[in-house]
Amino acid sequence: MKTNRRDFIQRLAGASLGASALPFLADANASSEVVPYAGKTLNVAILGLGSYGTRVAEAMKECKQAKLVGAVSGTPAKLEQWKSKYGLDAKNLYNYENFDSIKNNPDIDVVYVITPNVLHKDFAIRAAKAGKHVITEKPMAGNVKDAQEMIAACQKAGVKLMVGYRLHFEPFTRELIRLRESGELGKILHVNTQTGFRIGDPNQWRLKRELAGGGGMMDIGIYSINAVRYGSGEEPIWVTAQEVKTDPVKFKEGIDETITFQMGLPNGIIASCSSSYNFNNADRIFVAGDKGFAELAPATGYGPLKGRTNKGPMDQPVVTHQAYQMDGMADIILNGKSISPPVDGQEGLKDMKIIEAIYESIRQDGKRINLKG
Ligand code: NAD
Repeated sequence: MKTNRRDFIQRLAGASLGASALPFLADANASSEVVPYAGKTLNVAILGLGSYGTRVAEAMKECKQAKLVGAVSGTPAKLEQWKSKYGLDAKNLYNYENFDSIKNNPDIDVVYVITPNVLHKDFAIRAAKAGKHVITEKPMAGNVKDAQEMIAACQKAGVKLMVGYRLHFEPFTRELIRLRESGELGKILHVNTQTGFRIGDPNQWRLKRELAGGGGMMDIGIYSINAVRYGSGEEPIWVTAQEVKTDPVKFKEGIDETITFQMGLPNGIIASCSSSYNFNNADRIFVAGDKGFAELAPATGYGPLKGRTNKGPMDQPVVTHQAYQMDGMADIILNGKSISPPVDGQEGLKDMKIIEAIYESIRQDGKRINLKG
């Protein structure tokens, strides 16, 4: 089991291995000595204190620029527990009723929404109206329209909107992107992805359309979509999709079980992908070019990720994804840094539009659905 301290040192080491890949951490390169950070911090309140919210809170113990200072929950006992566990100030704790008064709290800069998917929109818009930057988990919303409303609300309020695409900050993923961008893979000829896992408890919100917005595609298939986009460097122009439902009792109407889908890219290649809520060990991204290939497997879990290329195994540090993500996002908000591919609302919206097109293709028996810009 890794320790927080070892992760932190690994994280610094990782930054020094790839300053260009992790530009937001470039300042940490100078030495491997751990020196106390005295700069500005991004003060974060997490809204939705469930399993992933807790994972983010734990990871943030390793952060340098991002700091967990507050929490928002509908359950008073959880707020009490977080107060003592993470040393939160009582004035930075909110419930869903008094949450809007966060606007009067200068000690919180950003609200990180980690609730069931369909609830992201309302909480994100309330946070924006309170003048707080917003981070929302993936998928950014339950549908395209909600995602667009979130973007509009954040623009109107003059706050930043980001989506929790932790892999955009993760070293193996960065290396795959670097290999493609640098031309080392040559002309990209194919992308193949499988993302899926066998979901447990049949009564959880992920299997309820009114809270999840869809099934496996919203939750895990989105990683395939995002990977095709950063693996190829292209934006899909059409999709075709086929759904398989072997268990219609567990996976009800509107909750997809397994989907195979194809994405047509502007350079003429076709990415082939799959998403499933019904089998494990499907976690792979494969990018083939005319000069080489890169493969990550596992590619999307919390790690350790693994990769190989035509030159051999990938050597990248194993890091705590959410700590990298939160420090990276702090650098974007505090210091105007950027990351490519981005983690902003437009990035989230692109994936949502592709998901909707995939669902539309299934409704039309696998018909090709063109994607409008
Ligand atoms: P979870 O069920 O463990 O936690 C959800 C939280 O939302 C709970 O604390 C729950 O009390 C709260 N909540 C508020 N209103 C609710 C309502 N009406 N019904 C149910 N819960 C309600 O779920 P999770 O696994 O933490 O997922 C939360 C979000 O995080 C989802 O959008 C999910 O896709 C995302 N997520 C992202 C990653 C990642 O790697 N980026 C991993 C896991 C989950």
